[in-house]
Amino acid sequence: MISESGQSTVVTQINNDIIAINSAVLMHSQWLAVWNKKLVCGQPITEAFVQSDAYKHCGFGLWYYGEHSPFTKDQDEFPRLGELHISLHDSVRLVVLKASQKQAITPEDYDNFIAKEIAFTASLVSLRDSLFGQLYSFDYLTGVYNRQAFYSLLEREFSRITRMSGVSSIVMVDLDYFKKVNDLYGHQAGDKVLTYFASYLKDSLRPYDSIGRYGGEEFLLCLPDAKVDDAKAIMERIREELAAHSIDIVGPNNQPLSINITASFGVSSISKGHPTSEAIETADMAMYEAKSAGRNQVKTYQYGTGEV
Ligand code: GH3
Ligand code: MG
Ligand code: MG
Repeated sequence: MISESGQSTVVTQINNDIIAINSAVLMHSQWLAVWNKKLVCGQPITEAFVQSDAYKHCGFGLWYYGEHSPFTKDQDEFPRLGELHISLHDSVRLVVLKASQKQAITPEDYDNFIAKEIAFTASLVSLRDSLFGQLYSFDYLTGVYNRQAFYSLLEREFSRITRMSGVSSIVMVDLDYFKKVNDLYGHQAGDKVLTYFASYLKDSLRPYDSIGRYGGEEFLLCLPDAKVDDAKAIMERIREELAAHSIDIVGPNNQPLSINITASFGVSSISKGHPTSEAIETADMAMYEAKSAGRNQVKTYQYGTGEV
């Protein structure tokens, strides 16, 4: 999916999540300022601060217990943040109740509150950092992993597959004659085709396969635990289906366009002794072989023979 600004919906969603967290942080600071003032100035404490479920009704709570995208909700830090927030409210309630009953607030009570506040803030910062980490991992246009993030993913996959003495396939995919799409229909139409192609690839793969944008109209795929021949069969299916149907987009002046596109695929693999850089290089060689052989083809690279 692509928005009017040319930004992928993935990137838009993460950006919106970061904006929402920032406003939750602000609401939390305001809440902190209000109850601190009441405490220091000896003003009456309202019910809102001492209710056992006050944590659900403060500004931060309204955000936390509201709707969230998976980018926020699925972070490891998210449940921890909720627990720390409840614990912070508990420590505040204790201090506030003592104050309202004119009891002395001990240094331990206060230190306890400060420790909870620090832990809560650290957790919020950590959640926001993870979201920024995600933001920097995705390609702005297509929403798949960018080159840097995908390389890290492949390095992790290389470590995993080496430990297991297995094989995972790596595929380099390049759209055929893509320059023509830009030349004929304009760059924006080209962007839409690229975005369509990225989501088509994503939808055609298994949930545990992954996809990254390597360069302009080149994508890298990683198929964990798939041997080169299995990956070839999967790529043949994807290639055929892509070639068989048209991509319907809205072109310049809202003109409906039906574009046919094909792609060339080069399959190689990572395994013990064949690291990421070698796999990318050999997948690229196989892809160029597919181009030379007429495009709209899948070629494989087999280690040992040194041949495509
Ligand atoms: P081949 O079959 O040999 O791969 O031909 P090709 O035209 O696909 O390859 P070439 O390398 O000549 O052109 C790639 C084109 O991809 C040129 C460039 O303008 C276009 N491109 C790269 N990135 C983007 C992008 O983000 N958006 C758009 N619209 N075009 C892009
Ligand atoms: Mg191309
Ligand atoms: Mg290219």
